[in-house]
Amino acid sequence: MKFDRSRKLFTEACRYFPGGVNSPVRAFGAVGGSPLFIKKGAGSKITDVDGNTYIDYVMSWGALILGHAVPEVVAAVSKAAALGSSFGAPTESESKLATVISHAIPSMERLRLVSSGTEATMSAIRLSRGFTGRDKIIKFDGCYHGHGDSLLVKAGSGAATQGIPGSAGVTAALSRDTLVCPYNDISALRKIVAQHAASIACVIIEPVAANMGVVMPDAAFLQAVRDLTARHGIVLIYDEVITGFRFHFGGVQTLQKIKPDLTCLGKIIGGGLPIAAYGGKKEIMDCVAPLGQVYQAGTLSGNPVAVAAGLAMLKVLKTKDYAALDHKAARLCEGLKESFTRKHMPVTINRAGSLFTVFFTPQPVTDFTTARTSDTKKYAAYFKAMLHAGINLPPSQFEAQFLSFSHTDKDVALTLRAVK
Ligand SMILES: *Cc1c(COP(=O)(O)O)cnc(C)c1O
Repeated sequence: MKFDRSRKLFTEACRYFPGGVNSPVRAFGAVGGSPLFIKKGAGSKITDVDGNTYIDYVMSWGALILGHAVPEVVAAVSKAAALGSSFGAPTESESKLATVISHAIPSMERLRLVSSGTEATMSAIRLSRGFTGRDKIIKFDGCYHGHGDSLLVKAGSGAATQGIPGSAGVTAALSRDTLVCPYNDISALRKIVAQHAASIACVIIEPVAANMGVVMPDAAFLQAVRDLTARHGIVLIYDEVITGFRFHFGGVQTLQKIKPDLTCLGKIIGGGLPIAAYGGKKEIMDCVAPLGQVYQAGTLSGNPVAVAAGLAMLKVLKTKDYAALDHKAARLCEGLKESFTRKHMPVTINRAGSLFTVFFTPQPVTDFTTARTSDTKKYAAYFKAMLHAGINLPPSQFEAQFLSFSHTDKDVALTLRAVK
Protein backbone atom coordinates (compact mmCIF):
# COMPACT_ATOMS: atom_id res chain seq x y z
CA MET A 1 0.00 0.00 0.00
CA LYS A 2 1.18 3.48 -0.84
CA PHE A 3 0.32 6.52 1.24
CA ASP A 4 2.35 9.15 -0.65
CA ARG A 5 -0.48 11.52 -1.45
CA SER A 6 -1.98 11.34 2.04
CA ARG A 7 1.48 12.17 3.47
CA LYS A 8 1.91 15.10 1.11
CA LEU A 9 -1.54 16.49 1.90
CA PHE A 10 -0.90 16.07 5.62
CA THR A 11 2.34 18.09 5.37
CA GLU A 12 0.40 20.82 3.62
CA ALA A 13 -2.49 20.68 6.11
CA CYS A 14 0.00 21.16 8.96
CA ARG A 15 0.69 24.63 7.56
CA TYR A 16 -2.94 25.59 8.12
CA PHE A 17 -4.36 23.54 10.97
CA PRO A 18 -2.85 22.82 14.41
CA GLY A 19 -1.48 19.31 14.05
CA GLY A 20 -2.79 19.23 10.49
CA VAL A 21 -6.34 18.34 11.51
CA ASN A 22 -9.67 19.83 12.51
CA SER A 23 -10.29 17.35 15.33
CA PRO A 24 -7.41 15.88 17.39
CA VAL A 25 -7.93 12.11 17.18
CA ARG A 26 -7.74 12.29 13.38
CA ALA A 27 -4.03 13.05 13.67
CA PHE A 28 -3.11 9.42 14.47
CA GLY A 29 -1.13 10.67 17.49
CA ALA A 30 -2.06 7.59 19.54
CA VAL A 31 -1.14 5.04 16.89
CA GLY A 32 1.68 6.80 15.03
CA GLY A 33 2.02 7.52 11.35
CA SER A 34 0.31 10.01 9.15
CA PRO A 35 -3.49 10.19 8.78
CA LEU A 36 -5.29 8.98 5.69
CA PHE A 37 -6.88 11.66 3.58
CA ILE A 38 -10.21 10.28 2.42
CA LYS A 39 -11.53 10.89 -1.03
CA LYS A 40 -14.85 9.08 -0.96
CA GLY A 41 -17.01 6.52 0.73
CA ALA A 42 -19.75 4.11 -0.31
CA GLY A 43 -21.56 1.67 1.96
CA SER A 44 -19.04 0.06 4.31
CA LYS A 45 -15.98 1.21 2.36
CA ILE A 46 -13.85 4.32 2.17
CA THR A 47 -11.18 5.16 -0.40
CA ASP A 48 -8.20 7.37 0.35
CA VAL A 49 -6.47 9.85 -1.98
CA ASP A 50 -3.86 7.21 -2.90
CA GLY A 51 -6.60 4.92 -4.18
CA ASN A 52 -6.53 2.42 -1.27
CA THR A 53 -9.92 1.09 -0.24
CA TYR A 54 -10.74 0.04 3.31
CA ILE A 55 -13.59 -1.58 5.17
CA ASP A 56 -14.47 1.21 7.57
CA TYR A 57 -15.18 0.63 11.25
CA VAL A 58 -15.04 4.31 12.20
CA MET A 59 -18.12 5.33 10.21
CA SER A 60 -17.64 9.00 11.05
CA TRP A 61 -17.42 8.02 14.73
CA GLY A 62 -20.80 6.33 14.70
CA ALA A 63 -22.81 8.86 12.72
CA LEU A 64 -23.19 6.58 9.72
CA ILE A 65 -25.22 3.61 10.93
CA LEU A 66 -26.45 3.04 7.36
CA GLY A 67 -23.03 3.43 5.78
CA HIS A 68 -21.46 6.02 3.51
CA ALA A 69 -23.31 7.89 0.76
CA VAL A 70 -26.71 6.27 1.32
CA PRO A 71 -28.65 6.96 -1.92
CA GLU A 72 -31.81 8.16 -0.12
CA VAL A 73 -29.78 10.59 1.99
CA VAL A 74 -27.79 11.85 -0.99
CA ALA A 75 -31.02 12.50 -2.90
CA ALA A 76 -32.65 14.28 0.05
CA VAL A 77 -29.59 16.50 0.56
CA SER A 78 -29.44 17.49 -3.13
CA LYS A 79 -33.13 18.25 -3.20
CA ALA A 80 -33.03 20.35 -0.03
CA ALA A 81 -29.86 22.23 -1.05
CA ALA A 82 -31.46 23.21 -4.36
CA LEU A 83 -34.27 24.89 -2.41
CA GLY A 84 -31.88 27.00 -0.34
CA SER A 85 -29.43 25.85 2.27
CA SER A 86 -30.33 28.13 5.19
CA PHE A 87 -32.95 30.72 6.03
CA GLY A 88 -32.55 31.48 9.71
CA ALA A 89 -36.32 31.04 9.92
CA PRO A 90 -38.56 28.12 10.86
CA THR A 91 -39.27 25.38 8.30
CA GLU A 92 -41.88 22.62 8.23
CA SER A 93 -39.28 19.86 8.08
CA GLU A 94 -37.91 20.76 11.53
CA SER A 95 -41.21 19.71 13.11
CA LYS A 96 -41.25 16.54 11.02
CA LEU A 97 -37.86 15.59 12.40
CA ALA A 98 -39.00 16.47 15.94
CA THR A 99 -42.05 14.22 15.50
CA VAL A 100 -39.92 11.24 14.51
CA ILE A 101 -37.48 11.82 17.37
CA SER A 102 -40.07 12.37 20.09
CA HIS A 103 -42.10 9.33 19.00
CA ALA A 104 -38.97 7.22 19.17
CA ILE A 105 -37.81 8.76 22.48
CA PRO A 106 -40.97 9.69 24.42
CA SER A 107 -39.05 11.36 27.29
CA MET A 108 -38.18 14.16 24.83
CA GLU A 109 -41.45 16.05 25.25
CA ARG A 110 -39.86 19.23 23.93
CA LEU A 111 -36.58 19.53 22.09
CA ARG A 112 -34.16 21.92 20.44
CA LEU A 113 -32.19 21.21 17.30
CA VAL A 114 -28.55 22.29 17.39
CA SER A 115 -25.56 21.58 15.19
CA SER A 116 -23.23 19.35 17.22
CA GLY A 117 -23.22 16.98 20.15
CA THR A 118 -21.05 19.48 22.00
CA GLU A 119 -23.70 22.15 21.60
CA ALA A 120 -26.38 19.74 22.81
CA THR A 121 -24.58 18.76 26.02
CA MET A 122 -23.34 22.29 26.71
CA SER A 123 -26.88 23.61 26.36
CA ALA A 124 -28.34 20.82 28.50
CA ILE A 125 -25.84 21.64 31.26
CA ARG A 126 -26.66 25.35 31.15
CA LEU A 127 -30.35 24.54 31.15
CA SER A 128 -30.10 22.27 34.17
CA ARG A 129 -28.16 24.99 36.00
CA GLY A 130 -30.79 27.56 35.06
CA PHE A 131 -33.64 25.26 36.01
CA THR A 132 -32.29 24.25 39.42
CA GLY A 133 -30.44 27.44 40.31
CA ARG A 134 -27.47 25.23 41.28
CA ASP A 135 -23.89 25.33 39.96
CA LYS A 136 -22.28 21.92 40.29
CA ILE A 137 -22.49 19.01 37.88
CA ILE A 138 -21.46 15.37 38.14
CA LYS A 139 -19.86 13.50 35.26
CA PHE A 140 -18.21 10.10 35.13
CA ASP A 141 -14.53 9.41 34.66
CA GLY A 142 -13.80 8.44 31.06
CA CYS A 143 -17.15 9.65 29.70
CA TYR A 144 -16.92 12.18 26.90
CA HIS A 145 -19.60 14.77 26.36
CA GLY A 146 -18.04 17.04 23.77
CA HIS A 147 -15.68 19.90 24.50
CA GLY A 148 -17.79 22.30 26.57
CA ASP A 149 -15.62 23.82 29.31
CA SER A 150 -17.53 22.28 32.22
CA LEU A 151 -17.20 18.84 30.68
CA LEU A 152 -13.47 18.75 29.99
CA VAL A 153 -12.66 17.70 33.50
CA LYS A 154 -11.33 14.24 34.21
CA ALA A 155 -10.64 12.45 37.44
CA GLY A 156 -7.22 11.87 38.90
CA SER A 157 -7.07 10.56 42.45
CA GLY A 158 -9.09 12.92 44.58
CA ALA A 159 -10.43 14.73 41.52
CA ALA A 160 -13.98 14.03 42.59
CA THR A 161 -13.67 16.70 45.22
CA GLN A 162 -10.75 18.76 43.87
CA GLY A 163 -11.60 19.29 40.23
CA ILE A 164 -8.52 18.96 38.04
CA PRO A 165 -8.69 20.58 34.60
CA GLY A 166 -8.45 18.03 31.81
CA SER A 167 -7.68 20.78 29.35
CA ALA A 168 -5.64 23.94 29.61
CA GLY A 169 -7.94 26.91 29.36
CA VAL A 170 -10.63 25.48 31.60
CA THR A 171 -10.80 27.75 34.61
CA ALA A 172 -10.26 26.44 38.12
CA ALA A 173 -13.72 27.71 39.06
CA LEU A 174 -15.40 25.63 36.35
CA SER A 175 -13.31 22.61 37.29
CA ARG A 176 -14.39 22.93 40.90
CA ASP A 177 -17.99 22.83 39.79
CA THR A 178 -17.50 19.59 37.87
CA LEU A 179 -17.46 16.60 40.22
CA VAL A 180 -16.11 13.40 38.73
CA CYS A 181 -17.18 9.91 39.76
CA PRO A 182 -15.91 6.52 38.55
CA TYR A 183 -18.31 4.81 36.12
CA ASN A 184 -20.35 1.96 37.62
CA ASP A 185 -19.45 2.99 41.18
CA ILE A 186 -22.68 3.50 43.13
CA SER A 187 -21.08 4.09 46.50
CA ALA A 188 -18.74 6.78 45.15
CA LEU A 189 -21.74 8.50 43.59
CA ARG A 190 -23.71 8.29 46.85
CA LYS A 191 -20.81 9.86 48.69
CA ILE A 192 -20.52 12.80 46.27
CA VAL A 193 -24.26 13.40 46.27
CA ALA A 194 -24.44 13.21 50.07
CA GLN A 195 -21.71 15.82 50.34
CA HIS A 196 -23.00 18.28 47.71
CA ALA A 197 -26.68 17.45 47.09
CA ALA A 198 -28.05 20.96 47.51
CA SER A 199 -25.61 22.45 44.99
CA ILE A 200 -25.76 19.80 42.24
CA ALA A 201 -27.66 20.85 39.13
CA CYS A 202 -27.28 17.68 37.07
CA VAL A 203 -25.69 14.32 36.54
CA ILE A 204 -24.63 13.70 32.94
CA ILE A 205 -23.90 10.16 31.79
CA GLU A 206 -23.29 8.05 28.73
CA PRO A 207 -25.84 5.29 29.40
CA VAL A 208 -23.53 2.91 27.55
CA ALA A 209 -20.04 4.36 27.76
CA ALA A 210 -18.36 4.43 24.37
CA ASN A 211 -15.62 7.04 24.71
CA MET A 212 -13.21 5.10 26.92
CA GLY A 213 -13.72 2.21 24.57
CA VAL A 214 -17.03 0.46 25.11
CA VAL A 215 -17.91 -0.03 28.78
CA MET A 216 -21.23 -1.54 29.76
CA PRO A 217 -23.21 0.03 32.56
CA ASP A 218 -24.35 -2.06 35.46
CA ALA A 219 -28.17 -2.09 35.52
CA ALA A 220 -28.25 -1.49 39.28
CA PHE A 221 -25.85 1.43 38.82
CA LEU A 222 -28.11 3.14 36.27
CA GLN A 223 -31.13 2.64 38.49
CA ALA A 224 -29.23 4.08 41.46
CA VAL A 225 -28.28 7.11 39.34
CA ARG A 226 -31.95 7.64 38.49
CA ASP A 227 -33.18 7.16 42.07
CA LEU A 228 -30.54 9.38 43.64
CA THR A 229 -31.03 12.24 41.18
CA ALA A 230 -34.83 12.08 41.51
CA ARG A 231 -34.63 12.12 45.29
CA HIS A 232 -32.43 15.24 45.36
CA GLY A 233 -34.05 17.24 42.58
CA ILE A 234 -30.97 16.78 40.37
CA VAL A 235 -31.54 16.83 36.60
CA LEU A 236 -30.47 13.55 35.00
CA ILE A 237 -29.01 14.08 31.52
CA TYR A 238 -28.62 11.05 29.30
CA ASP A 239 -25.97 11.76 26.70
CA GLU A 240 -27.24 9.55 23.90
CA VAL A 241 -25.14 11.21 21.19
CA ILE A 242 -23.68 7.78 20.37
CA THR A 243 -26.35 5.45 21.78
CA GLY A 244 -29.40 7.19 20.27
CA PHE A 245 -30.83 4.99 17.46
CA ARG A 246 -27.77 2.74 17.77
CA PHE A 247 -29.40 -0.31 19.41
CA HIS A 248 -32.98 0.07 18.24
CA PHE A 249 -35.12 2.81 16.70
CA GLY A 250 -34.98 5.05 19.76
CA GLY A 251 -32.80 5.71 22.79
CA VAL A 252 -31.01 3.11 24.88
CA GLN A 253 -33.05 4.58 27.79
CA THR A 254 -36.10 2.66 26.54
CA LEU A 255 -34.19 -0.64 26.60
CA GLN A 256 -32.81 0.20 30.04
CA LYS A 257 -36.27 1.26 31.28
CA ILE A 258 -34.86 4.51 32.66
CA LYS A 259 -36.50 7.86 32.02
CA PRO A 260 -33.98 10.69 32.15
CA ASP A 261 -35.01 14.33 32.54
CA LEU A 262 -33.02 15.49 29.52
CA THR A 263 -31.51 13.64 26.56
CA CYS A 264 -28.80 14.70 24.13
CA LEU A 265 -28.64 13.33 20.61
CA GLY A 266 -26.21 13.82 17.73
CA LYS A 267 -24.26 11.64 15.32
CA ILE A 268 -26.87 9.21 13.88
CA ILE A 269 -29.79 11.68 13.73
CA GLY A 270 -27.94 13.85 11.19
CA GLY A 271 -27.19 11.06 8.74
CA GLY A 272 -23.65 12.47 8.42
CA LEU A 273 -24.61 16.14 8.40
CA PRO A 274 -24.15 18.47 11.37
CA ILE A 275 -27.28 18.12 13.45
CA ALA A 276 -27.87 17.30 17.09
CA ALA A 277 -30.62 17.85 19.64
CA TYR A 278 -31.33 18.16 23.31
CA GLY A 279 -34.69 17.81 24.92
CA GLY A 280 -36.76 16.32 27.69
CA LYS A 281 -39.36 17.23 30.26
CA LYS A 282 -41.58 20.09 29.14
CA GLU A 283 -41.25 21.75 32.55
CA ILE A 284 -37.47 21.96 32.13
CA MET A 285 -37.38 22.76 28.41
CA ASP A 286 -39.80 25.64 28.91
CA CYS A 287 -36.96 27.44 30.70
CA VAL A 288 -35.20 27.87 27.34
CA ALA A 289 -35.51 31.25 25.60
CA PRO A 290 -37.76 32.69 24.24
CA LEU A 291 -40.13 31.05 26.77
CA GLY A 292 -37.67 31.12 29.62
CA GLN A 293 -34.52 32.76 30.90
CA VAL A 294 -31.90 30.25 29.69
CA TYR A 295 -30.38 31.55 26.48
CA GLN A 296 -29.45 29.20 23.65
CA ALA A 297 -29.46 29.97 19.94
CA GLY A 298 -27.89 29.10 16.60
CA THR A 299 -27.63 30.67 13.12
CA LEU A 300 -27.67 27.25 11.47
CA SER A 301 -29.83 25.41 14.05
CA GLY A 302 -32.38 23.19 12.33
CA ASN A 303 -30.53 23.70 9.07
CA PRO A 304 -32.84 22.53 6.26
CA VAL A 305 -30.21 20.46 4.44
CA ALA A 306 -29.14 18.71 7.63
CA VAL A 307 -32.75 18.15 8.69
CA ALA A 308 -33.51 16.63 5.27
CA ALA A 309 -30.56 14.28 5.66
CA GLY A 310 -31.72 13.28 9.14
CA LEU A 311 -35.28 12.68 8.02
CA ALA A 312 -34.23 10.58 5.02
CA MET A 313 -31.81 8.59 7.12
CA LEU A 314 -34.33 7.88 9.89
CA LYS A 315 -36.92 6.82 7.32
CA VAL A 316 -34.59 4.16 5.96
CA LEU A 317 -33.33 3.24 9.43
CA LYS A 318 -36.85 2.51 10.63
CA THR A 319 -37.10 -0.38 8.15
CA LYS A 320 -33.86 -2.00 9.32
CA ASP A 321 -33.43 -5.16 11.34
CA TYR A 322 -31.37 -4.26 14.41
CA ALA A 323 -31.37 -7.88 15.61
CA ALA A 324 -29.53 -8.91 12.44
CA LEU A 325 -26.96 -6.14 12.99
CA ASP A 326 -26.46 -7.28 16.56
CA HIS A 327 -26.00 -10.84 15.36
CA LYS A 328 -23.40 -9.79 12.79
CA ALA A 329 -21.46 -7.85 15.43
CA ALA A 330 -21.60 -10.86 17.77
CA ARG A 331 -20.18 -13.10 15.08
CA LEU A 332 -17.40 -10.62 14.33
CA CYS A 333 -16.47 -10.29 18.00
CA GLU A 334 -16.51 -14.06 18.55
CA GLY A 335 -14.17 -14.45 15.57
CA LEU A 336 -11.87 -11.75 16.93
CA LYS A 337 -11.76 -13.34 20.36
CA GLU A 338 -10.99 -16.74 18.83
CA SER A 339 -8.07 -15.39 16.77
CA PHE A 340 -6.47 -13.61 19.71
CA THR A 341 -6.99 -16.57 22.02
CA ARG A 342 -5.38 -18.91 19.53
CA LYS A 343 -2.28 -16.67 19.59
CA HIS A 344 -2.37 -16.61 23.41
CA MET A 345 -2.97 -12.87 23.43
CA PRO A 346 -5.21 -11.93 26.31
CA VAL A 347 -7.96 -9.56 25.17
CA THR A 348 -11.21 -8.33 26.63
CA ILE A 349 -13.80 -7.50 24.02
CA ASN A 350 -16.64 -5.31 25.23
CA ARG A 351 -19.61 -5.22 22.90
CA ALA A 352 -22.94 -3.43 23.05
CA GLY A 353 -24.92 -4.24 19.92
CA SER A 354 -22.98 -2.89 16.95
CA LEU A 355 -20.47 -1.04 19.17
CA PHE A 356 -17.38 -2.84 20.37
CA THR A 357 -13.82 -2.42 21.59
CA VAL A 358 -10.90 -4.83 21.76
CA PHE A 359 -8.90 -4.12 24.93
CA PHE A 360 -5.47 -5.71 25.15
CA THR A 361 -5.83 -6.72 28.77
CA PRO A 362 -6.84 -9.97 30.47
CA GLN A 363 -9.06 -8.26 33.03
CA PRO A 364 -12.69 -7.20 32.72
CA VAL A 365 -13.10 -3.55 31.70
CA THR A 366 -15.81 -1.86 33.74
CA ASP A 367 -14.57 1.72 34.10
CA PHE A 368 -11.80 4.07 32.95
CA THR A 369 -9.25 2.68 35.41
CA THR A 370 -9.62 -0.85 34.05
CA ALA A 371 -9.82 0.46 30.47
CA ARG A 372 -6.39 1.99 31.01
CA THR A 373 -4.91 -1.43 31.78
CA SER A 374 -5.08 -2.11 28.05
CA ASP A 375 -1.70 -2.27 26.32
CA THR A 376 -2.06 0.70 23.98
CA LYS A 377 1.22 -0.16 22.21
CA LYS A 378 -0.37 -3.45 21.19
CA TYR A 379 -3.45 -1.58 20.04
CA ALA A 380 -1.27 0.69 17.90
CA ALA A 381 0.41 -2.33 16.28
CA TYR A 382 -2.99 -3.93 15.72
CA PHE A 383 -4.32 -0.73 14.19
CA LYS A 384 -1.38 -0.44 11.81
CA ALA A 385 -1.46 -4.07 10.70
CA MET A 386 -5.19 -3.90 10.07
CA LEU A 387 -4.84 -0.68 8.10
CA HIS A 388 -2.29 -2.33 5.82
CA ALA A 389 -4.73 -5.20 5.37
CA GLY A 390 -7.44 -2.79 4.24
CA ILE A 391 -9.36 -2.43 7.49
CA ASN A 392 -9.87 1.05 8.96
CA LEU A 393 -10.12 0.96 12.78
CA PRO A 394 -10.40 3.95 15.11
CA PRO A 395 -6.91 5.44 15.62
CA SER A 396 -7.20 5.16 19.40
CA GLN A 397 -7.71 2.40 21.93
CA PHE A 398 -10.30 4.47 23.75
CA GLU A 399 -12.87 4.65 20.98
CA ALA A 400 -15.55 2.25 19.87
CA GLN A 401 -15.59 0.40 16.58
CA PHE A 402 -18.83 0.86 14.71
CA LEU A 403 -20.54 -1.78 12.61
CA SER A 404 -23.18 -0.44 10.21
CA PHE A 405 -26.09 -1.90 8.30
CA SER A 406 -23.93 -1.61 5.17
CA HIS A 407 -21.33 -4.09 6.43
CA THR A 408 -21.82 -7.38 4.64
CA ASP A 409 -21.05 -10.95 5.68
CA LYS A 410 -18.16 -10.72 3.26
CA ASP A 411 -16.81 -7.64 5.08
CA VAL A 412 -16.94 -9.57 8.34
CA ALA A 413 -15.16 -12.56 6.77
CA LEU A 414 -12.46 -10.31 5.24
CA THR A 415 -11.97 -8.57 8.58
CA LEU A 416 -11.56 -11.86 10.41
CA ARG A 417 -9.11 -13.07 7.78
CA ALA A 418 -7.09 -9.86 8.22
CA VAL A 419 -7.03 -10.34 11.98
CA LYS A 420 -5.59 -13.83 11.54
C1 LIG B 1 -19.35 12.56 19.91
C2 LIG B 1 -19.93 12.77 21.25
C3 LIG B 1 -20.25 14.06 21.72
C4 LIG B 1 -19.85 15.31 20.99
O1 LIG B 1 -20.46 15.43 19.77
P1 LIG B 1 -19.80 16.40 18.65
O2 LIG B 1 -20.80 16.38 17.56
O3 LIG B 1 -18.49 15.77 18.32
O4 LIG B 1 -19.63 17.73 19.27
C5 LIG B 1 -20.90 14.17 22.92
N1 LIG B 1 -21.24 13.09 23.63
C6 LIG B 1 -20.95 11.84 23.22
C7 LIG B 1 -21.39 10.67 24.03
C8 LIG B 1 -20.28 11.65 22.02
O5 LIG B 1 -19.95 10.41 21.63
